[in-house]
Parts: sequence; structure tokens; C-alpha cells
Amino acid sequence: MIEQKINLKKTLKEVFGYNQFRGNQETIIQNLLDGKNTFVIMPTGAGKSLCYQLPAIVREGTAIVISPLIALMKNQVDQLNAVGINASFLNSTLSKSESNKVKKSVLAGNTKLLYVAPESLTKPENLDFLAKANLSFIAIDEAHCISEWGHDFRPEYRRIRFIVDSLGDLPIIALTATATPKVQQDIQKNLHMEDANVFKTSFNRQNLYYEVRPKTNVKKQLIKYLKGKKGQSGIIYCLSRKKVEEIHEFLKVNDIKSRPYHAGLDSSIRMQNQDAFLNEEVDIIVATIAFGMGIDKPDVRCVIHYDAPKSLEGYYQETGRAGRDGLNADCIMFYSPEDIHKLEKFNKDKPVTERDNARYLLQEMADYATSGVCRRRQLLHYFGENVEKDGGFNDNTDKPKPKFEANQQTEWVLKAVKETEERFTISHIADVLMGKETDYVKSYGHNKVSVFGKGKDQTQQYWRSIIRQVLLFNYLKKDFDNHGVVKLNDKGRDFLKNPKSHKVMLTEDHDFSKITAEDEEKEIGGTAQDKGHDPVLFDLLKKLRKKLAKEKGFPPYVI
Ligand code: ADP
Ligand code: MG
Repeated sequence: MIEQKINLKKTLKEVFGYNQFRGNQETIIQNLLDGKNTFVIMPTGAGKSLCYQLPAIVREGTAIVISPLIALMKNQVDQLNAVGINASFLNSTLSKSESNKVKKSVLAGNTKLLYVAPESLTKPENLDFLAKANLSFIAIDEAHCISEWGHDFRPEYRRIRFIVDSLGDLPIIALTATATPKVQQDIQKNLHMEDANVFKTSFNRQNLYYEVRPKTNVKKQLIKYLKGKKGQSGIIYCLSRKKVEEIHEFLKVNDIKSRPYHAGLDSSIRMQNQDAFLNEEVDIIVATIAFGMGIDKPDVRCVIHYDAPKSLEGYYQETGRAGRDGLNADCIMFYSPEDIHKLEKFNKDKPVTERDNARYLLQEMADYATSGVCRRRQLLHYFGENVEKDGGFNDNTDKPKPKFEANQQTEWVLKAVKETEERFTISHIADVLMGKETDYVKSYGHNKVSVFGKGKDQTQQYWRSIIRQVLLFNYLKKDFDNHGVVKLNDKGRDFLKNPKSHKVMLTEDHDFSKITAEDEEKEIGGTAQDKGHDPVLFDLLKKLRKKLAKEKGFPPYVI
């Protein structure tokens, strides 16, 4: 055992040139080498690849690595070949004779790692070949692709387990940087690896500064910010290819060196632009989310989301590309409710389950963006880490928002949860408190619970915000096994018996609600009407919001 440990360190040094393991790497590798199923959940940049690369080298046979992106595979195989390891890949880019060559080398026992795209895995001729090969273990990288609750669902990933079973009793290592508890459960269930040893490190990236800015005058803000960061590397994410091109052009006329990257560009241009960024010929890459998976540039000093992302998982992974060298880096999101409407429109035509999941993810993201609570605390809570204190180094803790005593509201929320028998989601609890007499509410008789309509003077947004803060401070918990319904925690039950002070945050009205159609127009072009607003309703809502703010003495836009 000790002998093997020393050898692992020696291999680490000799093959990869590193002096020590990072975090849990050694324990993870040992676990896999002991033949046990292994589930690794670590943030982007933590060093997950090594957890299967090193064991593949020291074990007899060939390790199969299932990976979703062809570019990613090639990148890793090139890197491994460069340090003298026999690795190759099987995917649709290979000709028949090339793939035959790859297979021959595997069957001769020469290949240590074989990267396979999930769709290649299921091809009958490949299955026959794999059945003949001497395999050491199976690694499933980017394992969140298996879950419909993740941000990058790939149906082919669902078939992996079936194939793996047909290959005999091999240990599995699954790895992901995205694991809300729901996604984590999905992965384990789908891969039949509930028995796996789980290695989850904290998702806290202390060196990343999180900030959300209202999306007004965004181009001006962008230039001001980037001028102050001259010579430093940054990524700007936009939602559409068109926007990528537009921002790239805009930076160019403002003397900021950048390149565009999106799936609409020819792959050779994409490669050139990526290389220009990696080799620091330009400071900025303006990109859609097509850019970044597996990119390893250590000194990215900022990741800017020009448009709101579709989910917090995606957001966290994208911002995770900043500050891999451990030095401080900024993660700035420009947020406007308008972006949410746009994303919602994309979701409209999806099949029902997919649409509902997408909506849920988007709502979580919008709640985060409009919240006044410590960003770090929210993100970590979202990823299933229980945080007792604010984590600092983000806009909300550096400039704390006013708080107000919300004992009454907290009590109503907890009562609503209790009286509806802990079987409903945040949105439903908000509906009950707002006294909405929908058919759904009535069908459960929830218009009869004691707190029905207690909060009818407030908006859905207000109540979502209060409920989330009750959740975030552990009075409630989410049941991920059960569509994310909220249930009481011990702390919540105690509160009902013996209410204590519970303060919640208010964001200031100017933050997001004041972004008007005109502000958006300046940026996006087109009128509010073009974007599907009912102008009369839009105006009415604006007035109502102002009126509420005046009457209640505090901003109605609350988180
Ligand atoms: P992940 O897949 O978790 O996002 P990678 O496997 O791409 O991360 O690793 C990120 C970077 O960390 C790579 O440059 C890798 O070479 C480096 N790295 C991994 N393990 C170590 C280590 N033990 N010491 C130093 N650098 C490491
Ligand atoms: Mg990785």
C-alpha cells in the first residue's frame, strides 16, 4: 500500500511533472485503483482529469474515457502524447483506416487511455471491439451531461450504463464540476453507482469576485471596465452569435483587442481565434457558451456575462474559467429582466419536461441575480453546501443592502409550508400567500389555509425573495427527490413554536426594476413592443411598482 503510494507520487512527478497532488486527488486515485466506484465532484480547474489519467497509466489494460466534446478529447490526447503516454480517441472525425489503427493498438495492449465519444460507444462494431479489449476501468467525464436537470443534457449519455454493463464488472469513475444535489443524485442513479465513494470538494472559489450589475448603459460600463484592465485576459459571454460579432466589433473600434468565438464560425477560424486568445495576441475573447469547456488558461482575470446565462450551473462553470492561477479575478454579470423574457421565449417550444426544467433553472438564476444576499453564500447553497456565514468578496457583502425584520413574513411562509403539508414548491407557497384563487390552489383546498392571502399586498417577486431567504437561512429545505418541494427543517419548526428575529435583505429599487424599455432599446435595438411586451401593461406595471414603493416605504423589488 505504502509502496504504491510512493509510486503514485513518483509517476505524478515523472509523467506530469508535478510535485504534489492537489486536494483529494491521491485518495481518489487510490480508491479507483482499489477497484471501487468513484464519484468526483470538484469545481472547474480543480484537476479532475488527473484522477483518471494517472490510474490509467499505472493500471494494466486500457482505460475508456467517455467525453462529450471532440475538441476536448483531441486536446487531452495531444497533451498525453506530448508527455509520452500512449493515448488515442475514437470518434466520428476518424476515417475507417484511422479507427482500425486505433483499435489494433488497443487490442495489442499498447494503449493506456482510449477517449470515446458517447455516440461512438454505442456503434455495434465498436461494442464488439471493446468486448475483446483488455480494459482497466471506465471514466465518465462531464458526467452531468447525463442529467436533464443539468445545463448540458445529452441523451446519448443515458445509454452509457447499458454499454458499461455489457463490458463486464469494471470500476467506474464519474466526474463533474456541476453538481447540485439533484444532478448528483441523477448521475448516481443513472449510472447505477449509488454505492460509489463520493469525493466532493468545496465549490468555494475564494479568489473570484462576484458582481451583478444592472444592464443599463452596458457598453459604456464595459469599455470603462476593460480600459482599466488593459493587457489582461478576459472572456465576454453573449447569448447569440450576432451579439458576439457586435460586441467584438464594438471593442475593436474602441481599441480593445479581441476575437469572436461561436459555433457559426468555420472551425478553422474558431481554432485560430481560440489560439490568438490562448497565446495572448489578443486580450479578450467574445464568445457564446460554445467556448470554454476544457480550456485551460490560468490567468483569465475576468469573465463577463454580457447577457444573463440560462442557469446557475452554466454560470458557475463559465465563471470558473477565471483565476485558475489562484489570483483574484472578477466575474461580472449584466442583468436585465428583459434577458429572462428572451430566454423564456427560447424555452417555449421545447418538449414539456425539458421546458419545465429550463424554466426552473432560469428562475433560480434570476433569483440569484436580483438577490441582495451574499453571492457566494447563494451559489454555495445552490450547490448543496451549507454555509453558516457570508463569504465576502462580492458586491452584496461589500456594499450590504438594508435589512428589515421579517418575523411575521417568515412565520407566514413556514405556516404556509406546514399547512400545505410540505408538498409544494416555492412558487406555489408564494401563490398561497398572495391569495391567488387559481384552479390549482383551489383543487388542493389551499385557499382555506390560515395564511391564505396574508401577503396579498406584495408581488410574486417579493414572496419568492422572502421564501428563498427563509430557505437560505435553513428554516426550510428543498427535497430534490421530489421536484424540489420545500419542507420544514428543525430550525423552522422551532421558529413556529418560538419565533425569533429573522432579518431579510432589500435590494434598492434602482437595481433592476428601473431598467426601462428605453434603456434596453439603446442596447438591443428595437422597441419594447418588438420584444413582445404589451406596452399598456408594461406602463401599468411600472406605475404600480412606483405606487407600491411610495406607499410601503420600501422598494417592492425585494430579495
Ligand atoms: P478540471 O477537469 O477539474 O476542470 P483539469 O483536469 O483540466 O481540471 O486541470 C486543471 C489544471 O490543473 C491543468 O492545467 C492541470 O494540468 C493542473 N493540475 C492538475 N493536477 C495538478 C497537480 N497535482 N499539480 C499541479 N497542477 C495540476
Ligand atoms: Mg475536466
